[in-house]
Amino acid sequence: MYTTSPNLTFTHAFTDRLGGVSEGIFASLNLGEHLGDEEKCVRENYRRLFEALKIERFAVTKQVHSDTVREVTLSDAHELYSPVPYEADGLVTRERGLALMVFTADCVPILLEDSEHGVIAAVHAGWRGTVAEIAKNAVNSMVSLGARSENIRAAVGPAIGYECFQVGAEVKDALSAIGCDDRCRPDPENEGKFYADLKGANRDILIRSGVRPENIRISPVCTRCRHDKYWSHRYTDGKRGVQASIIMM
Ligand SMILES: [Zn+2]
Repeated sequence: MYTTSPNLTFTHAFTDRLGGVSEGIFASLNLGEHLGDEEKCVRENYRRLFEALKIERFAVTKQVHSDTVREVTLSDAHELYSPVPYEADGLVTRERGLALMVFTADCVPILLEDSEHGVIAAVHAGWRGTVAEIAKNAVNSMVSLGARSENIRAAVGPAIGYECFQVGAEVKDALSAIGCDDRCRPDPENEGKFYADLKGANRDILIRSGVRPENIRISPVCTRCRHDKYWSHRYTDGKRGVQASIIMM
């Protein structure tokens, strides 16, 4: 159903495909409300997950591959199948008892906490969000709410790995533009193609933003290699459910 990261202290989870009731391409723990899965299955998947994690209230966002991190409070608590009135790719809060959720299927999820000052964040970073440095915006948003960057612990969850994420020159150029040249290497077999390390690029950005290297944990799991356990956008050609990354104080 989910894995956790050893460096986070608050309730958190990186969910996987297992332990739900959805069928077909959504088998089984699909948490996407608007991907074509049956509503009653999605509701049951949420019920099982939230029972396991003891979550009652949660916030989501309409993800648009932006660099926007939005502060949420209990007034933003989401009801399943109701509209989400804002777009963002990161959520930050000081609110206890409000779970933050982001959804991925190859993109990089990042969960952050400053347990001393009581601030948490959840981030969705595909390549566009990564090169827009949404991870930096998340750290800055946490600091503006009272966190200290040197206290922040960050966990990068399962996402597509270096060896599986073939990209074009536009991604290579964008990574170069933010000083992450060494997170991209040419594909020796395909002219004009490259491989990009999005997890590593986000690690670089977090460190540059003041997060201590020893406070960052990166999941070694590649969602494309482990398509049996995780949804991979690339492996399924987009016919898929989504996993969630969740954190709550
Ligand atoms: Zn892989």
